[in-house]
Amino acid sequence: MAADRRLAAAWLFGAVSILQLHAQAMGLPVPPQLMSALPQPRHRRGADRDFATGPQGAGGAGFAGGRVRAGPVMAGEYRPINCYVCANRLCSGIVTAISMIGAKGDWVHLYRPKFVLAALQPPQDRLLSKLGGQPWGFPQNCWPVCPGCDNPMSMVAQLAHTLPVIDLGRAGSVLHLFFCANVACRTYGDIYGCRAMILQCQEIGNGVTLQPADKDAGQSINGELWIVAWDRHEDAVTPEQAPLFYDDRSHLNLPDEIAQPFGFDERWNTKAGGVPYWTGGGGVTLDRSYIPCPPFEFLLQIHSRIYVDGAPPGADLIDCLVSIYEEVGSETKWNHTWPTRQHAGSPNMSLIYKNGADSYGVDFVNFGSDGTAFVFIDRLSNPPEVRWHWNR
Ligand SMILES: [Zn+2]
Repeated sequence: MAADRRLAAAWLFGAVSILQLHAQAMGLPVPPQLMSALPQPRHRRGADRDFATGPQGAGGAGFAGGRVRAGPVMAGEYRPINCYVCANRLCSGIVTAISMIGAKGDWVHLYRPKFVLAALQPPQDRLLSKLGGQPWGFPQNCWPVCPGCDNPMSMVAQLAHTLPVIDLGRAGSVLHLFFCANVACRTYGDIYGCRAMILQCQEIGNGVTLQPADKDAGQSINGELWIVAWDRHEDAVTPEQAPLFYDDRSHLNLPDEIAQPFGFDERWNTKAGGVPYWTGGGGVTLDRSYIPCPPFEFLLQIHSRIYVDGAPPGADLIDCLVSIYEEVGSETKWNHTWPTRQHAGSPNMSLIYKNGADSYGVDFVNFGSDGTAFVFIDRLSNPPEVRWHWNR
């Protein structure tokens, strides 16, 4: 991957110089009321689980300690800044241009979700934050249809506003991400195949909303994982370095330990906050033809393989393929187990486990086999708007 990034340098474009990026980052005003809201001592590096939002975290309660934003819109002086995406001049100083706030010399924070497999839990009985499956209380008549193939889209995530991790701009909001899972569709892998909808709690009903059938009576339902906690971590990135993650040339020049602080470990590629860990072969995977400029900010990213603690359940329990492997000498030995009878409506999911490891992977969605979704939010628009795309 590192080699790919260097090779890609030959054709990469970049509209904003490192100096400009530094200047814009350093020149951003940090309102005094926000500074006073920040904890002064620096946190120790590494995992630091200090809260569990639980599935019911729609109100954002349950967080103790940590860095809390002063709200979706930060008061402050207005001054022009450069957009990190397109180099256009933006005239609002309240646009942060980076998705985190911190004092100079501090570290960026990120939040890593902890998952359980929905199939091993009691039936869902309330709204909770989750990936895949079918949404809770989603209005049936709002179910998005793909503009490319006219089939109902598949849900990728239903995420409740949970400060400070999932800041949807206002309490009671619930974000829904849908995509077209039809690999033959022209929108597959395209931004037009990715929909985001924010609903308010009062629009959410009771019970699981069933995904409508495709035109050919089939269905593509993603594997379902519930978020049971968020672990807070410090990144290797400072707020001053964060804008470098949005420019190809600058990103390429970053040492790997900053650009990919967790060594390309895909367990870190599903997270909220911080800077995007680009997983595409060419480094920064923003496409200037559609990427949201500020005031859009990075909200979260979701890798197609999610990790769950422990050893995997049996194939029949989970109703999907379970693959276990081990290294024997220079060989990799595989043991694949399919469920004896796959039930109708089984999710598109498979499990992978290295014998003896402390977690197993769940391929819950088909983002081109190993892709990642990148989600951005504009909290200054009314109502807040989310855009996202996935690539590999
Ligand atoms: Zn489609």
